[in-house]
Amino acid sequence: MSFNLSQLIRNNIKNLTPYSSARDEFKGEASVFLDANENSLGSPLMKWYNRYPDPYQWKLKEVISTVKGIASQHIFLGNGSDECIDLLYRCFCNPGKDNIIICPPTYGMYEVSANINDIEIRKAPLMDDFQLDLVHLETLIDTNTKIIWICSPNNPTGNSINHHDVEMVLNNFDGLVVVDEAYINFARQKSFVGLLTDYPNLVVLQTLSKAWGLAALRLGMAFASEEIITVLNKVKPPYNINQATQDLVLKALEEVGQVNDMIKEIVDMRDALAEVFASLPSVEKVYPSDANFLLVKIKDVRKVYQYLLTRGIVVRDRSNVLLCDNCLRITIGTEKENTLLVDALLELEG
Ligand SMILES: *Cc1c(COP(=O)(O)O)cnc(C)c1O
Repeated sequence: MSFNLSQLIRNNIKNLTPYSSARDEFKGEASVFLDANENSLGSPLMKWYNRYPDPYQWKLKEVISTVKGIASQHIFLGNGSDECIDLLYRCFCNPGKDNIIICPPTYGMYEVSANINDIEIRKAPLMDDFQLDLVHLETLIDTNTKIIWICSPNNPTGNSINHHDVEMVLNNFDGLVVVDEAYINFARQKSFVGLLTDYPNLVVLQTLSKAWGLAALRLGMAFASEEIITVLNKVKPPYNINQATQDLVLKALEEVGQVNDMIKEIVDMRDALAEVFASLPSVEKVYPSDANFLLVKIKDVRKVYQYLLTRGIVVRDRSNVLLCDNCLRITIGTEKENTLLVDALLELEG
């Protein structure tokens, strides 16, 4: 395979003159800023919220760089991973012409965002063991295939995709391979971030929405070659990460220890809960999980789902999703919430 990023970029993006903000045009030291039409008097909140935020979030990236062990130039920050997904389409996929491949059942945004951008979606469903069907995948690739999406650990199945299979795709596809690692902190498997230097076609997505407990702040991360990051930066809205998020995330990143403790606690509860579920007569199967949720096959799934609602417990009904017949996706809760759920299910059994 011969990877050529320049051939992959849409022509309108290659030729684009990006918006140049006041912060782009003047970057030196100064004490009087009269260049961005901000309110120089201040704001009802803290003083610095009257100023536009750093468009490239360098301070934040420096800290993320330390936490993740990746140089800042290899990091792109988005308003959630969802913004990164949309930007990858807008940078690399020509509407009405190019196609992408997803491996269902998987995260819904790859498909929704492709549809919004008028990109053809090709599907190589996972096999019964929820692993990649490499043979089928290969038959779908043509010269207009720009991106292959691999979610690992996968949502909603919870399993990690075999490392070797992902490398097979990376080695044999000359478009972009996006590995979405939203749940990587709960997994036994290693992140693909360490392989960025080996694969110029690799993009790894991570997020602060899951293990870091910061879903409300909307911070997604894309790790890739400097060249890919440059293209994403060209297309993103200039101030896509607001100052409040940058400030709060900087504070949160000081608490790696606390987050690691939470991850361990969630993983322990997940494994314990998996055993309890497996012992319930109404449960047909608990799938192995590398994430912070369990996919559970239930005998009378509609009845159980509705019953849990009457008890004020909401889980995700995935029974209409390919390969997930009769399945509920259940997020690991607090100790108390998990007990409420188990007690409710035991009561249903009578
Ligand atoms: C939750 C989730 C995300 C997170 O998206 P954000 O926009 O960062 O909140 C991304 N990918 C997958 C597979 C997810 O399940």
